[in-house]
Amino acid sequence: MIFILFGPPGAGKGTQATLLANKLNIPHLSTGDILRNKLSDKDDLSIELKKIMDSGNLVSDDILNRIIINRLKLSDCKKGFVLDGYPRTLNQKDFLVHFIDSINLSIKSIIELFVSEEIIIQRIQSRLKKENRDDDKNDIIKTRIEKYNKETRPLSDYFLEHYSDNYCKVNGNQDIEKIHNDIIKIIQKWLFSVIILCFLAWLIYLLSCIHPPFILI
Ligand code: AMP
Repeated sequence: MIFILFGPPGAGKGTQATLLANKLNIPHLSTGDILRNKLSDKDDLSIELKKIMDSGNLVSDDILNRIIINRLKLSDCKKGFVLDGYPRTLNQKDFLVHFIDSINLSIKSIIELFVSEEIIIQRIQSRLKKENRDDDKNDIIKTRIEKYNKETRPLSDYFLEHYSDNYCKVNGNQDIEKIHNDIIKIIQKWLFSVIILCFLAWLIYLLSCIHPPFILI
């Protein structure tokens, strides 16, 4: 069970990914949180990372792909995971799809949270007051939104083309509980169709055992 939460900064990916991961009892992997944890190392890499993150730019694909592969190899990811903030570029998407294929897992659901720019700015400003993140400052928000539009938004075309059955858009302008309920409804619908498909496959198998010519009909 692999779930990807996709959307601009301030869309509520982190909050919704936490709620979903708790509900499904699988890990929530936020590349933003992993990178922020690395900043406390105070080595050359962390100094470089802080500079990039505080400017609102994206950290290199190479670093991100290494971070994510090391995390996905841990045993708690075997049952599945919720990805938040990754992939964010076409290169990261290629890397992830390739890795998932190689371990015989599949992406179950990609949920895009769409939010108006006005709400994004309001949310990030209120987060700045609570968490005091340097990259939530006004001038940096603009760069982050630009980066999202240029580097990350194009992924939605890929997802729509290749995962059209598993790709859903959710209105992220709503309150936390309403967004969560919308996400759960989508997942329940998807689980229901998987159960029906499995049941039909089992029924066909059973009928072909009882009455072998059935498979020829
Ligand atoms: P977030 O907490 O997801 O908003 O991420 C905070 C910052 O971490 C971003 O603005 C980027 O600088 C960096 N970051 C997080 N995830 C990625 C990613 N997948 N690719 C590149 N940079 C990332």
